[in-house]
Amino acid sequence: MTKKLLFSNRYLVYNFEKTLLKDKKVGGSVLVNCGCKDGRTTTITLEGEFGADALWCTKCQYNLDVEHTILSDRLKEALLEWAAQYGIWIDLETDMLVDDAQTLEKTHNAAGKVLVQKLQEELGVAYTITFEPSHMT
Ligand SMILES: [Zn+2]
Repeated sequence: MTKKLLFSNRYLVYNFEKTLLKDKKVGGSVLVNCGCKDGRTTTITLEGEFGADALWCTKCQYNLDVEHTILSDRLKEALLEWAAQYGIWIDLETDMLVDDAQTLEKTHNAAGKVLVQKLQEELGVAYTITFEPSHMT
């Protein structure tokens, strides 16, 4: 069974990259710069979104450039992969859920929980990581 989605967020455009690159600090303990007053964040949200990276500043909602974080290459890859698979439960041609949408979304959310654990392990207790699972199916 499929249902029509009232979902158009995929058309949002993310223009944060320039700012992030401009303000990037090298070699410090800064995860990545964001739009907060002090220019950095220790409160991170993991959330899937079309055309965006998986990490967001929980406070200012900046989409963080995963490539430029202090995270390990392995975790960066996992985050990029996870972000790329966001929404595979939707047929973009028809905007309808695919047949096994529920399972796909559930699996993606489960992978997200694992990623949050990995993030917490790498970043340590100074960082607060929140997970926003997808609820489309
Ligand atoms: Zn911020």
